[in-house]
Parts: sequence; C-alpha cells; structure tokens
Amino acid sequence: MAPKRKATIIALANQKGGVAKTTSVASLGAAFAEQGRRVLLVDLDPQACLTFSLGVDPDTVESSVHDVLVGGVEVADVIVHCEEGIDLVPSTIDLAGAEAVLLSRPAREYVLQSALDAVRRDYDIILLDCSPSLGVLTLNALTAAQGLIIPMPCEMLGHRGVGQLLDTVRDVKRILNKKLKVIGILPTLFDGRSNHAREVLDDVGERYGIPVLSPPIPKTVRFAEAPAVGRSILSTSRTSKGAKAYREVATSLLAAI
Ligand code: ADP
Ligand code: MG
Repeated sequence: MAPKRKATIIALANQKGGVAKTTSVASLGAAFAEQGRRVLLVDLDPQACLTFSLGVDPDTVESSVHDVLVGGVEVADVIVHCEEGIDLVPSTIDLAGAEAVLLSRPAREYVLQSALDAVRRDYDIILLDCSPSLGVLTLNALTAAQGLIIPMPCEMLGHRGVGQLLDTVRDVKRILNKKLKVIGILPTLFDGRSNHAREVLDDVGERYGIPVLSPPIPKTVRFAEAPAVGRSILSTSRTSKGAKAYREVATSLLAAI
C-alpha cells in the first residue's frame, strides 16, 4: 500500500474576537467531512468555544490541548470523536496558563507542530482554531500550518488589524515556518444588502495583495442556533445560505490544496 499523505494543516487566525474564526472552523470542518475528508479540528482558545460547539463540555474533558502543549501528552490520547465525522483536540480553561509556561521553554513555537506530526497521516485536513491574540499559542498555530485563512467581518475589512497580522505572518515565515502561505481573507458576517460591504470587499484584496475567498459568508441568525445543539450549521440548517457558502468555500479550498 502506498504511504498515506500527510494532512494539510490550515490555521484560522485573527487577533480580533467575534470575527467568526470558530464558526468557520466548525463549518468548514463539517463541509470537508461531508466531502469524505478525514478532519481533525484543534481548539487553541482557552475559551473553548469550538469544543463546546462540537457538543463537548470543556468542564468534563479529561485531557486537552493544554496537556499536549505543556505536559507532553500524545495528541492521539486527547482526541474526541464528534458528530458529523469530525475529530477534535479539545481545549479547556487550563490553556489560559499555557502561554506563561511555554514562554520559558526552548523552541516553544514548535510544540504544536511536532505534536501534530504523530497524527498527520491519519487525517486529510487539520484546522487550527486560534484564540484572539498573537501570543505563543497563535505562533504555534502559524508554525504548524501550511496555510492561513483570516476570517474577517466585512465591516472590519478596512481596519488596520489585517496589517498587524500580516506583519506577524512575515516574521513567522522568515524565522519559524518558511512554508506558511496566506490562503486568503474569508469575508464573514456579510450583509449583501449593504453597498458599503460590497465596496470594501472589492477594495481589500488589492490593498493587502492577498486573495479574498469567495463567496463571502452571509450574516444569518442560523449561526447563533447551531453551537447550542453541538452541531454545525451544515447539519442544523442544511440548505441555509450560510451552509451553502461554507460548502462552496470548502470545495474551492480542496481544489487548491
Ligand atoms: P471568533 O471565534 O472569531 O471569536 P465566533 O465564530 O465565535 O468568532 O463568532 C462570533 C459570534 O458571531 C458568534 O455568536 C457566532 O454565532 C456569530 N456568527 C458567526 N458567523 C455568523 C454569521 N455568518 N451570521 C450570524 N452570526 C454569526
Ligand atoms: Mg473563537
């Protein structure tokens, strides 16, 4: 048998909160799984919203990404099998202390990369859900990943935050991970009725010289309902505009990676 290919690792990062990083990780993960891909999602946020949204109670998790990063526990030993054919490396509030512990360690940015290596042949795609910061945990994600997706609400596209994140990416590429590629900005919370949103969308790709993924993800109330039942919008609201948009983005990503 031919050796299995290693999973493509994609980080979803943006140092701002509330930009739909976690929603996009859960939804794209579900879309990849629907298309028959073996998917692992990694929750790198101490708030554990991804863990919660996949139906796992962070308070009852025995071991988590924190134990992997700080305690040397194998990734395979903390993986939880979730609905929709998705595997999860869960987070808990313990992770809030990991940054401080890692700061005193040599090669602290490489811990996640080397931990994930042990399971990379078991998956086709690994998505990393970052916390809203550019600290050691996010640097670990950018070091482990081959690709970066920047979720960004359309009304925020004009702000300076993207520049700051791209500066960090430049440093990561220079020092930690030459292979990191910015796949693009994923426009989220898109209000198609607003002319402003459309104008900003047209302008932003040019300004930063990075691709803008398509289609934009529409703003819909359906997203608020999904995490409460531990499933993504792709199964709670199969035919909604939001589910359709994430499926389309997932399909074009699969063609590109
Ligand atoms: P982040 O991980 O960047 O902090 P979240 O994915 O947690 O962002 O999303 C922030 C909030 O926005 C959540 O309450 C989520 O349900 C909501 N949300 C995300 N995407 C959409 C959307 N397309 N339409 C409406 N609400 C959304
Ligand atoms: Mg989040």
